[in-house]
Amino acid sequence: MAFESLSERLQGTLKKVTGQSQLTEQNMEEMLREIRLALLEADVNYEVVKDFIAKTKEKALGADVLGSLKPGQVVVKIVHDELVELLGTDVSTVDFSKKPTIIMMVGLQGSGKTTTTGKIAKRIKEKDGKKPLLVAADIYRPAAVEQLKTIGQQVDVEVFSEGTDVSAEKIVTDALDHAKENHNDVILIDTAGRLQIDQPLMEELKHLKDIAHPDEILLVVDSLAGQEIANVASSFNDQLGITGAVLTKLDGDSRGGGAISIRYLTHVPIKYIGTGEKLDQIDLFYPDRMAERILGMGDVVSLVEKVQDVYDEKESMKAFNKMQRGTFGLDDMLVQMKQLKKMGPLSGILKMLPGMPKMPKIDDDEANDRLKETESMILSMTLEERQHPEIINMKRRERIAKGSGKSVADVNRLLKQFEQSKKMMKQLSNIDPTTGMMTQKP
Ligand code: GDP
Repeated sequence: MAFESLSERLQGTLKKVTGQSQLTEQNMEEMLREIRLALLEADVNYEVVKDFIAKTKEKALGADVLGSLKPGQVVVKIVHDELVELLGTDVSTVDFSKKPTIIMMVGLQGSGKTTTTGKIAKRIKEKDGKKPLLVAADIYRPAAVEQLKTIGQQVDVEVFSEGTDVSAEKIVTDALDHAKENHNDVILIDTAGRLQIDQPLMEELKHLKDIAHPDEILLVVDSLAGQEIANVASSFNDQLGITGAVLTKLDGDSRGGGAISIRYLTHVPIKYIGTGEKLDQIDLFYPDRMAERILGMGDVVSLVEKVQDVYDEKESMKAFNKMQRGTFGLDDMLVQMKQLKKMGPLSGILKMLPGMPKMPKIDDDEANDRLKETESMILSMTLEERQHPEIINMKRRERIAKGSGKSVADVNRLLKQFEQSKKMMKQLSNIDPTTGMMTQKP
């Protein structure tokens, strides 16, 4: 899976930070250093990394550190949001409304240009009911014309070709005339590629641009090309003014870093991604999905947002202080249970945590019933009983059981469990709530 190395590095780094209970300037520096290394190792362009780190630091220092979750997860969200922004925020598509829409496909040899041209043709023909025309304008690689013809047959789209003895300019001029007569509404021009960027190629592409007046110039980039992607994207953009990029071979073992650089260096959106050799293996580019894939951390971001929405930080500090003082009562437990219920089904919350999907299934109905039963028993207690459960004698137990429609055994179980958790809370009393560190050895 593409992006794996970057994702693994980031995960390791973020795990370290999410395991800590408070974000300090020092551990943030440490984390940023790790992220910087991870991005550089994944071939992200140096300038991009520098900017990314500076922005992340600024946002993390200004962020509210939540009381409910480990603050490192807030940083995960910041890193995620920055990545989305870097990758382009919105989905960018090609506008096919103009008749005809003329698209020039450019890119280095082997990038997947011819294959992608066929993929786009298939997609718009099937999805949008278009009548595309493929133009074989790569006259230098004889196999290229044949390859496009084969692909055209496979996707049942007409290919315009005049062999390899005619100039590319003439082919394009004739193709435009042909498309007019033939009522093609999309013209996809497969231009020549080279193994490296060279000036004669750029000059030819500029000529073709002058002749075809394309609505889009899509640069096809091999995601496996790593650091080289930055140079390719910048050169093509400087000389031709590209309008979008297509990132191919994202199904392979790409380190993915170059992709992050494209948008930053060219300000041009990625419009499609190639995910395999087959002609239907093409997709739109979703920046948020890509960022999540890079982070590979479950849906941590949604979880942080959810907790941010419903969790009352003051309440949780109050409860924490009471636990520390040993005065946490059943009335406080009721408040905590209500908070938990506001967050939605328990299984949904657990699913969002990294590593959780492997856990055995949680029965939401059962968990909910248990919560409700406990709640009704606590509600049947007087305030004094809730605050001082030790006064609940047999007579009181019978009254509470009757009031909540439960058995005395149920009330006994609740009180016993509460007693056990109080013991656990006592151990917590050695923890400093601001740092989460033990103040003394247990
Ligand atoms: P061109 O020289 O730029 O026209 O490149 P081609 O279209 O001939 O593609 C070069 C090679 O990459 C071919 O073997 C394609 O099958 C392969 N290819 C293109 N796109 C993808 C992709 O998204 N995933 C994978 N795995 N292979 C691809």
